[in-house]
Amino acid sequence: MRLLPLGVGDAFAARYYSTCLAVEHDDHWILVDCPHPIQKMLREATVQAGLTLGPERIEAVVLTHLHADHCSGLESFAFFLRFVQQRKLPLYLHRDVLEELWQGHLAAGMRHLQPAVGAPPIEMHLDDYFDVHLLEEGRAVPCGPFSLECRHTLHHIPTTALRITAAGQTLGHSADTSFDPTLIEWLSTADLVVHETNHGTHTPYSALAALPAPLRQKMRLVHYPDEFDVEASVIAPLRQGELVDVAKSQRV
Ligand SMILES: [Zn+2]
Repeated sequence: MRLLPLGVGDAFAARYYSTCLAVEHDDHWILVDCPHPIQKMLREATVQAGLTLGPERIEAVVLTHLHADHCSGLESFAFFLRFVQQRKLPLYLHRDVLEELWQGHLAAGMRHLQPAVGAPPIEMHLDDYFDVHLLEEGRAVPCGPFSLECRHTLHHIPTTALRITAAGQTLGHSADTSFDPTLIEWLSTADLVVHETNHGTHTPYSALAALPAPLRQKMRLVHYPDEFDVEASVIAPLRQGELVDVAKSQRV
């Protein structure tokens, strides 16, 4: 399993794109979260990594929550798939995240489509653009060659962390969360743990830096602020466009 960060920043970032991960196994690619401008992010990261990976190769999006720095690319990405590729976007998310996805986020821009110039708009629905698959705590959900597990985090709005497993390897991702030792314990069974860090109600770097060394060694940071000192960090930050092999990722 391989991991390609398309963005590593937070909602206020000027230096980075918003945090978004492309995950691959056996040439199957999925995205974890989908911020704007997703296609530019995908292009720049794959060029940097020496990959040829266009949007047509993305088989699904796993969505952690509805803050714009995680979900603002869904509208344009789903429109692209509909009009250019004539397909729906498979979307994996918890029911609590799904609840406000359409009425609270997407409907304003996607509810109406004109079938032709001057024609009256037709009414569209979430299912016209997306194939929705619900994640559930305590149950692994298949997604191509991947198996997806979720767990709620401590955040302003419903948010789920993830464990993504393929061929015996597991990638953990905290999504956005306050510092939560029980969540870190849940993530720690993974071979590689991607964890957020930021200000306010987010997870402070100092709390993660105080974790036991074996855990820090298999942890990578994302969602860090522009001023975060990536060189001084005792936990390796992920970098945009840096291809990471999950099996070989432990620092020694
Ligand atoms: Zn958030």
